[in-house]
Amino acid sequence: MMGPIMENEEHKTDRISVRQIMKDLRALSVRDFSPEERLDKIVALVAEKLKVDACSCYIARPGDILELCATWGLDKKAVHETFLRLGEGLIGEIALQRKPLIVEDAWAHSSFVYKPETKEKSFKSLAGVPIIRSNKLLGVLAVQTKKIQSFSQDLIEVLETISLVLGEMLSWGLFKKKETVAAPPSGRQKIEGTGLISGFAIGRVIIHKRLEQPAQLLAKDSQKEIQKLLKALDRVEQEVNRILATSHMSGSQSDIFETYLMFIKDKGWIAKMTKAIETGLSADAAVQKIGDEVTARMELMTDPYIKERIHDVQDLVGRVMRHLRRGAKEARAKKKMPRQTILVAKSMGPAELLDYDLKKIKGIILEEGSQTMHMVIVTRSMNIPLICGIKNVAQIFSDGDLVALDATGGNVYLNPSDDTLDALSDQTNRARRLRAKYTAMRDLPAVTEDGIKISLNMNAGLSHDLMADSGFSYDGIGLYRTELPFMLTENLPNVKTQTAIYKRALMQAKDKPVIFRTLDIGSDKVLPYFERQTEENPAMGWRSIRMTLDRRALLRNQLSAFLKAAAGRDLYVMFPMISCVREFQEAKNTLLMEMEQEAERGGKLPKSVKIGTMLEVPSLVFQLDELLKEVDFVSIGTNDLMQFMFAADRGNPTIWNRYDPLMPAFLKVLKTVNDKCLKAGVPCSVCGEMAGRPLEAMTLVGLGFRSLSMNPASLGAVKAAVRSMHRAELEAYLKRQLSTVSENLREYLRLFAVDHGVFIG
Ligand code: PEP
Ligand code: MG
Repeated sequence: MMGPIMENEEHKTDRISVRQIMKDLRALSVRDFSPEERLDKIVALVAEKLKVDACSCYIARPGDILELCATWGLDKKAVHETFLRLGEGLIGEIALQRKPLIVEDAWAHSSFVYKPETKEKSFKSLAGVPIIRSNKLLGVLAVQTKKIQSFSQDLIEVLETISLVLGEMLSWGLFKKKETVAAPPSGRQKIEGTGLISGFAIGRVIIHKRLEQPAQLLAKDSQKEIQKLLKALDRVEQEVNRILATSHMSGSQSDIFETYLMFIKDKGWIAKMTKAIETGLSADAAVQKIGDEVTARMELMTDPYIKERIHDVQDLVGRVMRHLRRGAKEARAKKKMPRQTILVAKSMGPAELLDYDLKKIKGIILEEGSQTMHMVIVTRSMNIPLICGIKNVAQIFSDGDLVALDATGGNVYLNPSDDTLDALSDQTNRARRLRAKYTAMRDLPAVTEDGIKISLNMNAGLSHDLMADSGFSYDGIGLYRTELPFMLTENLPNVKTQTAIYKRALMQAKDKPVIFRTLDIGSDKVLPYFERQTEENPAMGWRSIRMTLDRRALLRNQLSAFLKAAAGRDLYVMFPMISCVREFQEAKNTLLMEMEQEAERGGKLPKSVKIGTMLEVPSLVFQLDELLKEVDFVSIGTNDLMQFMFAADRGNPTIWNRYDPLMPAFLKVLKTVNDKCLKAGVPCSVCGEMAGRPLEAMTLVGLGFRSLSMNPASLGAVKAAVRSMHRAELEAYLKRQLSTVSENLREYLRLFAVDHGVFIG
């Protein structure tokens, strides 16, 4: 199988063979092998094609351990028996340094460690590369020869390209020890999960693929990929030219963009990427590979100026990738979706969801999800049933599978039987009847049995077209999440575009009030075009008002658009994530300044301007006396307030239902805030997800709240709860419970609702 290797001969790998390896790898990746078989075939293939005596793959395990998981050439009995610590032996050295290594005479190398079980005594030369993906070390790929050999740089490049493919496969998490690999279930089955948005759906599966990593690693048609690359570079060039022409930048800022232009046209850079594509990589993967190489080289330099430029290179690479993936994103939007689609994903951000034709999505299955995750909030506004907590979705479901979803019961039926389908359609009919009941209440006021009027508002942000036919009435928009329309645009919308968006929202709300919240980006709300810092705790990091106060132009543009959009009518502006009074004052002053400037420009101002705050950071609860002198209204964001009060990440599925907003500690805080607001004459409402759940909404009314803002889909159910409750009775009950019971009140309140005929769905 292998040709003879000449002593001291420079090891040659021509480009044709690299292409062939890629082709063979592509064939292997689509064939139906177990992960272990596939890895065995890959190392054998590499050994054969590179004409070496051994090829081995080590996989990184927890505890800084590398495990030999496949080999061709070493003793197979050593597989799963040979372990090396990070830094131990040549393999450990490659992993520790995260750099390729070529060693002509391994035995003479100071780091060499002999592992007898591998029977590698007769091997002399070694070349290896780390397997890295998303900056994480996944393993090491190494080749060895029995005779002394000088491996070429070309061979290292080939190994690096192969390691990219391996990295992709390893990241699927499939190469676990045999006993821990769950057999992929097949045929008809019932899978239990957690229903986050109740409802029923039957449809065909579409598996959502993330675009953060190259959408596709290998490509058949290199010429097509090169054309894609050149087109993307061209688009970036146009984009940079546009930025240079339209923004007022200082000299040093425009220098950066001028450097981008030089880079985009740099023949050496383009040639490297083209060469990588010719080896069989997709344009996307080639840009990432070369980008990583350039930044890795720059990291080794000591010159601080060059180090600072790493960021620029990463930004530039990011821009090229974004343009390359725009095709993929567009393809996702255009992807032929069944009319009844069940979208299946490991996890998903709100922006990714919005790439799809939402009208066709009838249900969603997520591996990871939680009640107050933004993607779930967006889904709820469209009333799409959603189930989360189903492990290994990629192994269970395939595109086109028939699935019945019972998100009310928390079950998914793969290839459902006729009986299951019948039962589900009965349930669907019941849900339809319930909806009809809510719709019939459309024109009735949300008044409790003892005559207290509750203002029911809706949370919005997506195109109102989606909500126009929700069939429920509302008093106003209590929370307009402005970041949602930002997620739908390719670039940061300018004042004119924003004005049009807000004007449309005001028009659609007719004469009802709309509370515009300034941008709350960061945390899990990511804008595709917005440079994002890597932060350990993004929810508690540089997000929301912290970011917009620092990027004042961004805030001012948005405030200016609010003022223009609301010219001649009432404007309500709310600032998110306020943590101290000074922050609110600063934001408020920015708005007042913007108003002055608008007036100076002769622009028509709104009839009135009310400025309020979100209360979602616990520190604000202890500054209410000062705060309430400054604000026109308060809206409690219970989603964030909960996560910060209980120190429990709202997007973490492992802990999301560990704490409950109906725990006395939380209810007492809500009551304190509302009582103080009432005393100060400042309107106070709740706009977190709890306001849209009938039992919680009932409780909030019992605590004294007169205004709630929720997902449009919840308006009917909450109105039914409000209309069937007696506020004073519940108030007295809550007063008793809050002073005596320290445990979760959910069950107590549920029984109260049942005993008192409160309709909680
Ligand atoms: C909240 O935190 O409760 C809230 C309404 O804001 P968001 O969910 O957008 O963070
Ligand atoms: Mg919030």
